[in-house]
Amino acid sequence: MLPPLSQLLAEMVRIPSVNPMGRTDLPGEIIFESRIAAYLEERLRGLGCEFHRQNVRPGRDNLIASYEPPAAAPFAVLFEAHIDTVPVDGMIVEPFGAKIDNGKLYGRGACDVKAGGAAMLAAFARLVKEKPPGSAKLTLAFTVDEENGGLGISELMKSGMRADYAIVAEPTLLNIVNAHKGVARWSLETTGRACHSSRPDEGINAAYRMARLLLGIQSYLEELGSRAPDAVLGPRTISVGRVMGGVSPNTVPDFCRADVDRRLLPGETFESATADLQAFLKALPGVDFPFTLTQSSPGCSPLNPALSVELVKRFGAAIDSAIGSHTVHPVPFGTDASRVASAGVPAIVFGPGDIAQAHTKDEWIDLAQLEPAAEILYRFVRAK
Ligand SMILES: [Zn+2]
Repeated sequence: MLPPLSQLLAEMVRIPSVNPMGRTDLPGEIIFESRIAAYLEERLRGLGCEFHRQNVRPGRDNLIASYEPPAAAPFAVLFEAHIDTVPVDGMIVEPFGAKIDNGKLYGRGACDVKAGGAAMLAAFARLVKEKPPGSAKLTLAFTVDEENGGLGISELMKSGMRADYAIVAEPTLLNIVNAHKGVARWSLETTGRACHSSRPDEGINAAYRMARLLLGIQSYLEELGSRAPDAVLGPRTISVGRVMGGVSPNTVPDFCRADVDRRLLPGETFESATADLQAFLKALPGVDFPFTLTQSSPGCSPLNPALSVELVKRFGAAIDSAIGSHTVHPVPFGTDASRVASAGVPAIVFGPGDIAQAHTKDEWIDLAQLEPAAEILYRFVRAK
């Protein structure tokens, strides 16, 4: 048996599962997902259901539970929730306090996305307990590392996880998110020849070379904007976020690097976007020097709404039957749903809470959204 949802969520928030996101200065006792995975494993054991761990990295396991209905299942569903959170620097509430005040529960992960995970676990537990006739087969996956590249969901899909429909937990205020852009990130690098700055003619300035490329990227943004936008998601975009190079004011730099971020529309892939940008930069006037464009983060693919039309209809009906109405809309940020959809499983994003409170210094969730979230998830899988 599970405790009431708000208590379940409070217990989850009190267990730190910070994704260090590459940092090495965070205390060992708050980082990674081993403690929350152990907690959830105990909960699953208590339900008497099938479950197993899937090792992703040392000490970092996905947790996968499944429910098989007594009679033939009309369809198979995947519920997925990540169990990592972003770091807690600068927070003005106790990050692992799970303090409840005025109907809100405060703490890191309360909104993103332990509330969604708790609601999924509650719906799963109810299904296991009630075994309603005609229900779907359900897999519940708690995954690691969503906040820094999605190792957990990638491993899950790589291992052959398939379903007819997938619900990915992120705060959507109990609405349906069916589309987002993808993200491609590159490190763009130029080289040159270093020399003393008093004799710049003896060197080759990698920063000047980079400057040509950066101005080229600025005009590439215009070029992308002239291509047909997606009716829902808008235009393709590109942005340079950081430029680094050189060692001192009196040395001609032999190295320069820029971090480039490109937002992809359905139909585009990392590979196609890379090839397109490469070709554009190479064709620029004055670019007669070598440069490299290499992937700097896993990014994510676009979530194409065309893949989830049937799912949106079914899940929307479950929402309406529970709370009366819902919206279906795109979001500007990437989610695990696109990785699920890339494996051919129609996926949408759904959960309690507002993305506006995710990653904030006073992260909180409106507790009134928890029970309805669990009820909607349950109704969808019951699928009478
Ligand atoms: Zn999240």
